[in-house]
Amino acid sequence: MISYQAVTKRYGGRTAVDDVTVEVREGHVTGLLGPNGAGKSTAMRLLLGLDHPTSGTVTIGGLPYARLRHPLRTAGAHLDAQSQHPGRSARAHLLGLARYAGIPGRRVTEVLEQVGLETAARRRIGGFSLGMRQRLGIAAALLGDPQVLVLDEPMNGLDVDGVRWIRSLLKSCAREGRTVLVSSHLMAEMHQTVDRVVVMGRGRVLADCATEELVSAAAGAVVLRTPDLSGAGALAADLGRAGMSVDESQPGVLTITGGTAEGIGDAAYERGVRVHSLQAAPATLEDGYLRLVEDEFEFRRPAGSTAGGPR
Ligand code: ADP
Repeated sequence: MISYQAVTKRYGGRTAVDDVTVEVREGHVTGLLGPNGAGKSTAMRLLLGLDHPTSGTVTIGGLPYARLRHPLRTAGAHLDAQSQHPGRSARAHLLGLARYAGIPGRRVTEVLEQVGLETAARRRIGGFSLGMRQRLGIAAALLGDPQVLVLDEPMNGLDVDGVRWIRSLLKSCAREGRTVLVSSHLMAEMHQTVDRVVVMGRGRVLADCATEELVSAAAGAVVLRTPDLSGAGALAADLGRAGMSVDESQPGVLTITGGTAEGIGDAAYERGVRVHSLQAAPATLEDGYLRLVEDEFEFRRPAGSTAGGPR
């Protein structure tokens, strides 16, 4: 749905986005992650036609943003919670946007309810907390009932309830088949929200994969204990064939790297091996992300290499 094809953006001598080719799929919540200055906001601005690539193309459903017939009904975006006019009420702000985009006024009432701002609708935005501004920005993004949602750091300023609310909102949008692209530096919140990740570093794509793929790449060893000593040997061979490495130096204890507890438990079940315990040191999205970004700081990515899963 969203497609970056060999996109480069330079500001003077600085390359903000460097030869990025990425497809953001519909039906998923995709997290755009990376340290400050990685190029995330620039990538989002290029998508929304707020800036133009130096080379390459960015399209939504095959068209650049500027050529969309109904931009607000195709792609809803929330980039900057500070850009809302402080003197206006939430309702007036949304009505202005709706009128401009030819969206019926009743949608304003619907989205205000959807983001939980119905009771604050007539208050001036200037008196809103950051969390309320975030909700208002999301309401504006939802106004045109768009197929694509693009949100830059939408969890900033939200309390625990707010984070939980936005998580379920984004997931339900994806379940409805929409394309959801969301940037954040809050890894713990993102881990439970996004099912795909695009990790950027210094303008380049370092990983473009399922969240679990990035997480499991950082996972520690899984330790399996069994009373079945002969079965343990056969299971170790199975796991080895599946690409994991297995330490069998202690009888009845397999220490396995390169696999998940789920996969190893399933393999034991299929082999008919009794398992007394299966312990995994769970990795988090933050672990996977840090591993990737630290590698990036230590080693320069070889020129011409393409993005795939985490290395
Ligand atoms: P992120 O959102 O990941 O923090 P940005 O996209 O904001 O990263 O910035 C990427 C790089 O491009 C940074 O080095 C930043 O200084 C530079 N940059 C971004 N926008 C501009 C601009 N309008 N003019 C000059 N440099 C810019």
